Amino acid sequence: MKAIVIGGGIGGACAAIALKRFGIETAVYEAVKEIKPVGAAISIWPNGVKCLNYLGMKEPLRKLGGQMRFMAYKDYQQGQTMTRFSMDPLIQSVGEQPYPVARAELQSMLLDTYGRDEVQFGKRVTHVEESADSVTAWFDDGSSATGDVLIAADGTHSVIRQHVLGYATERRYAGYVNWNGLVEIDESIAPADQWTTFVGEGKRVSLMPVSDNRFYFFFDVPLPKGLQEDRATVRDDLQRYFAGWAEPVQKLISLINPDTTNRIEIHDIEPFMQLVKGRIALLGDSGHSTTPDIGQGGCAAMEDAVVLANVLQTNSLGIEDALLRYQEKRAYRVKDLVLKARKRCDVTHGKEMAVTEQWYEDLKTETGERILSGMCETILGGPLE
Ligand code: FAD
Repeated sequence: MKAIVIGGGIGGACAAIALKRFGIETAVYEAVKEIKPVGAAISIWPNGVKCLNYLGMKEPLRKLGGQMRFMAYKDYQQGQTMTRFSMDPLIQSVGEQPYPVARAELQSMLLDTYGRDEVQFGKRVTHVEESADSVTAWFDDGSSATGDVLIAADGTHSVIRQHVLGYATERRYAGYVNWNGLVEIDESIAPADQWTTFVGEGKRVSLMPVSDNRFYFFFDVPLPKGLQEDRATVRDDLQRYFAGWAEPVQKLISLINPDTTNRIEIHDIEPFMQLVKGRIALLGDSGHSTTPDIGQGGCAAMEDAVVLANVLQTNSLGIEDALLRYQEKRAYRVKDLVLKARKRCDVTHGKEMAVTEQWYEDLKTETGERILSGMCETILGGPLE
């Protein structure tokens, strides 16, 4: 069996690694010459970590991951702690810890694990064609690739999604802008072993440790789409949006490097249940684009990869049947993740300010139990125990 994987991001790379490990011949085609991830870092929750462990990356991942032992929410004006608790109960319940990692390093680890030289860069798919016994991808340089099965891991702007669904989907603006980057750890801003989040006014400022003494930081602000803001204006923009916020937030704004700070208008796509058509499977953001509010988009792509490789390797009723089993195992799970993230997004970002204010109040009495049990439920819904 030969698998064609379109896209070499988190989903495509994980799928290619998984298929190769199961002895399936793979070829990966990536549109760009050099992959530049859209964000600075990503939190890999234990369900994603288990998938990477399963795919043979346990040791390299540990070297990239930050040590996040505590979680805290802080009041935006005074910086007072609203709640702070250990993440150990979560780790004990699910059997693995979360790892925040720099995206460029994650991407490098994935490509090295698969075999960087085996990825064909600069190959942008324009369309796909299926016959009774094969599937072909056509690239914008006029070339093509044919295989038995095609994995469409071409991201949120997927061109293959429309072929699978038979209609075009629209990305939905979630109503807020996210700025993110990396900065050296400064414990006057937040403890080095803690996921710290300042909340107020429907906005948030968050810091997570990654390897090499760095914080992954992000700022979220509810804003209209299409504002004329970019890296040139980032410090002024953040100072304006976070005027009156506590000293650690001001310090963080003064320390960020505008040249490496990303500004992203956050979107998702209304979930759909069809993930496959014939010999083609959507995987990762092409099949389920989510807001990052529960940090599960990349983890879900890792889960997809593990499940897909399993059904292709263990099924004897043919490729189309195997893909239908993949769809059956994944469609409800990924829909649930997208909708959970959307709900969290609305509460966090003041869609109804009274609800958000109530959440701030609830945080003051939070012991960690409610938050961790919600996380546990999400994590344990993954394919690996
Ligand atoms: P992508 O990473 O987008 O990769 C798609 C690849 O396909 C790209 O390399 C692209 O160049 C290539 N491609 C596109 N079109 C074509 C084409 N026509 N032909 C060939 N190749 C093509 N997830 C988490 O798990 N935890 C987090 O903490 C987290 N935080 C996030 C924070 C932000 C601000 C954002 C925006 C997302 C976050 N996510 C997080 C989500 C995560 O980044 C995505 O879910 C993940 O990157 C999806 O991987 P993918 O491989 O499906 O898509």
